[in-house]
Amino acid sequence: MDSSSDTPKTLTDAVGQLKTPLEGAHGKEKEKTEAGNYFVANYPPFSFWQPEQVPAMMDVLDSPAPTDKNLGVYFHIPFCRKRCHFCYFRVYTDKNAAEINAYLEAGMKELEMYAQKAYLQGRKPQFVYFGGGTPSYLSVKQLTELTDRMKSYFPWDETEEVAFECEPGTLTEKKLEAIRNLGVTRLSLGIENFDDHVLEVNGRAHRGKELHRALKFAQDLGFKQINIDLIAGMMDETEDNWKRCVEQAIEYGPECVTIYQMEIPYNTTIYQEMKKTGRVTAPVADWPTKRRWVNYAFDEFEKAGYTTSSATTVVKDPKDVKFVYRDSLWEGADLLSLGVASFGHFGGVHYQNQADVGPYMMALDAGELPVYRAYETSEEERLVREFILRMKLGRVTASYYQEKYGVDVLKRFEKPLHHAQSEGFLSIDGDEIRLTRDGLLQVDRMLHDFFLPQHRNARYT
Ligand code: SF4
Repeated sequence: MDSSSDTPKTLTDAVGQLKTPLEGAHGKEKEKTEAGNYFVANYPPFSFWQPEQVPAMMDVLDSPAPTDKNLGVYFHIPFCRKRCHFCYFRVYTDKNAAEINAYLEAGMKELEMYAQKAYLQGRKPQFVYFGGGTPSYLSVKQLTELTDRMKSYFPWDETEEVAFECEPGTLTEKKLEAIRNLGVTRLSLGIENFDDHVLEVNGRAHRGKELHRALKFAQDLGFKQINIDLIAGMMDETEDNWKRCVEQAIEYGPECVTIYQMEIPYNTTIYQEMKKTGRVTAPVADWPTKRRWVNYAFDEFEKAGYTTSSATTVVKDPKDVKFVYRDSLWEGADLLSLGVASFGHFGGVHYQNQADVGPYMMALDAGELPVYRAYETSEEERLVREFILRMKLGRVTASYYQEKYGVDVLKRFEKPLHHAQSEGFLSIDGDEIRLTRDGLLQVDRMLHDFFLPQHRNARYT
């Protein structure tokens, strides 16, 4: 897109230039993007997780180590160069090297405490994930020391996937080489958009030049799998610009592309600005436009030989590109989650850490695990969770659930399945439920129908 002088340059401009301030969501206006989380990342919704349930998680940790469950390790690095206007994560942009070292030290203390728990004895991670924030914000020295210590508690010699999120502007060739040498197999680059103007208006720290350089370095270094993230419908995004983004992504030919539809959760800077100016509608594309853009992207990637492998991903070679982290978690793997605000899971109990760095560090200083809230799931909730999350893959088989849970999902979910079918979102053929493209493009909205009644209309925070 051209960065012409009459296009908005700041967040306030962008929100202020919205042409139709709306008073509420009625009729067609429902299709406008309003504040809130639509993306279903877990189940039951986070608003049901409670501090009172933390003892249930501690009980699991004191029980014997299971022999039939995969284990993952997640480390949350909450530092970024700059806060993006659409960001809803816990991130800090003002920490110096000493503060970051203290945080990493706290994370290692946390890991050491977990390593002593009966439930984790002798277990090795199937997958490791560095998320954020910006893991690539750390220096090579910090990363090397951190991963050496992680490996000393939970060795990586049986680890199938090490995923690492990067912000392109933090990457040099030297750092990327070090990241590859740590054992990273899946490098995920938060590109979001290739256009400088769109990146600037949305508060991204990097620009096109940096991301082209980072992509080239990464490809030359030969990572096993490179993923790039794109977001459809950022502020000031246009049809032409989106098409060019898709074209450029195809030219680079990464192994995997993840495409999100822009949403504006309540804890974003954009929402704060909307509140100040009394806007109900977010200054981003409406839902039909975002769906049309993602649909276009899926079509173009498919023409270029990619396969649409879920509601948000296209992959170059489905036989080669694995999502160990995602698939194992959806199937109920344990996740030892470290760092501020991170989400984990042990033996059917979900948990989340303290959401601010102060209480997080204080708990560890006091020799306690920094867990803030938890949720002990029932067998039925685990079934619903695994059913809805796997629906995002676009295809599920009833026999899988019959075998694992002894439940006929075609009967158990007869009503919402029938409703989704009548809307043209899916078809059922014998054992198989297959989402249509239309269903895939709005799967998060559809999934709420499958929730238990008490969880419908819950805020996803
Ligand atoms: S880089 Fe990612 S985590 Fe950091 S502020 Fe931007 S969206 Fe948030």
